[in-house]
Amino acid sequence: MRLLSLSIDLDEIPCYTAIHGLPMPEESAARAVYQRAVPRFEALFDELGARGTFFAVGQDLKEEHAAAAIARLHAAGHEIGNHSFHHRYDLTRRDAETIRRDIADGSAAIAAVTGQAPLGFRAPGYTVTDTLLEQASALGVSYDSSVFPCPPYYGAKALALWAITLRGRTSHSVLDTPRVLTAPTDPYRIGAHYTQRGEGLLELPIGVTSLASGQLPFIGTSVALSSERTARWLARRIAHRPLVNFELHGIDLCDAELDGLSFLAPHQVDLRRSLEHKRRSLLAAVRELLDTGYEIVTLAEAASRF
Ligand SMILES: [Zn+2]
Repeated sequence: MRLLSLSIDLDEIPCYTAIHGLPMPEESAARAVYQRAVPRFEALFDELGARGTFFAVGQDLKEEHAAAAIARLHAAGHEIGNHSFHHRYDLTRRDAETIRRDIADGSAAIAAVTGQAPLGFRAPGYTVTDTLLEQASALGVSYDSSVFPCPPYYGAKALALWAITLRGRTSHSVLDTPRVLTAPTDPYRIGAHYTQRGEGLLELPIGVTSLASGQLPFIGTSVALSSERTARWLARRIAHRPLVNFELHGIDLCDAELDGLSFLAPHQVDLRRSLEHKRRSLLAAVRELLDTGYEIVTLAEAASRF
């Protein structure tokens, strides 16, 4: 099996100002993901002749421009996944009832726009717990796609959070337990602990390269920051997997200058690359995988095959 899924987390710009402890952006910048990046992803998928999975944050859909974008994506055959209602980075630290409500509200907000409850769930900030996944499962979620067993990412995130603390600011981000690094790197059913195999909810882990190449992150940020050559190299290091779960963010197709996001560029390294550079590197990685026989499917379609 050689399936490739491209999923895009639609974290809007205020999510990033919250991570970095910065003030709220102005309105046009605050909508850059839905108004600027989403149309670019639609064009990219049309170019590839394929469909993707867009994970929406429920509360964003109260705004007309965001709801219209989701309706358009759904009508064009893209999958809409649930990225929680509030996108709280500390969701896993809340009690079970608060977690349940956040997942349920996220699902309801999407269903109100598309007429269909989403099948998949992705937790904010790649952070899950057994409690969270039990709640998701009880709510009838078909698959989860949040587990990211990536040592380099884990180390970098720990370091970044420490740096933010040292600068005297407060980040809203939360680190997962290091046990996540022992989780399976290919699709599995969750067991007694979410990092173990069992008979529970289907987990589609986020892409990492082979163990021999250091389980490097194969996600939008790392690929978009790479040259086209390195992007193709990364793609070859993940091309043994039955499912390449290529997770991107809306901001991956944002441009600091074109989209009025220069204020965020000192904090957000991917905004220091031009849109054109990032688009070319992402396409190079995807084309490398297509050349080795991968077929692009939505995550829901991938889930149905495992
Ligand atoms: Zn997110």
